[in-house]
Amino acid sequence: MMPSRRAFLKAGGAGLAVSILGFDLKPAYAQSRELKIARTTETRSTCPYCSVSCGVIIHTLGDKAKNVTPQVVHVEGDPDHPINRGTLCPKGSSLQQDILNSRRLLKSQVRRPGSDHWEDISWDDAINEIGAWVKRTRDATFVEKDAQGHPANRCEGIAWTGGCTDTNEFNYLVVKTMRSMGLCYIENQARV
Ligand code: SF4
Repeated sequence: MMPSRRAFLKAGGAGLAVSILGFDLKPAYAQSRELKIARTTETRSTCPYCSVSCGVIIHTLGDKAKNVTPQVVHVEGDPDHPINRGTLCPKGSSLQQDILNSRRLLKSQVRRPGSDHWEDISWDDAINEIGAWVKRTRDATFVEKDAQGHPANRCEGIAWTGGCTDTNEFNYLVVKTMRSMGLCYIENQARV
């Protein structure tokens, strides 16, 4: 008797193979995973998508050979991570497609005021320009006293928003740095 679609999905392919075909596919699945990550280097990292901050293991092939470009071949949940214990949601499970994506931007770019297109810019030039703009904007928007003449000493022209892979340590430094410049508008995602 052919199983219903619901029964097939409920049992899973491997379970159904045992009950209907008489053999167990689980060892084959386990073996294919082992073959996939054989000879890879494991790098522990954090999923970049949301503030849950699940731990991931990135498997890279070829990064120990001198003339080979390293290639990410597999990404999975970190079973030792206290937050997700090896599990990943669908977004986290698709992380490999984010890493190996031809549309991923790998260089710095700038869009000048009034321009309708992005230009390539070196990292050195980008950092210098960011520094100059921060200084210029802070000088132009710094408020020493409020409307009642009370000391304010705040910078209202710059805001900071943090990414979801920022660690607590990074966010600590961010807050110290931004507050020292007088920034009021600071937002970060909570991370471990
Ligand atoms: S795996 Fe999912 S829940 Fe976990 S951090 Fe990534 S997006 Fe968030």
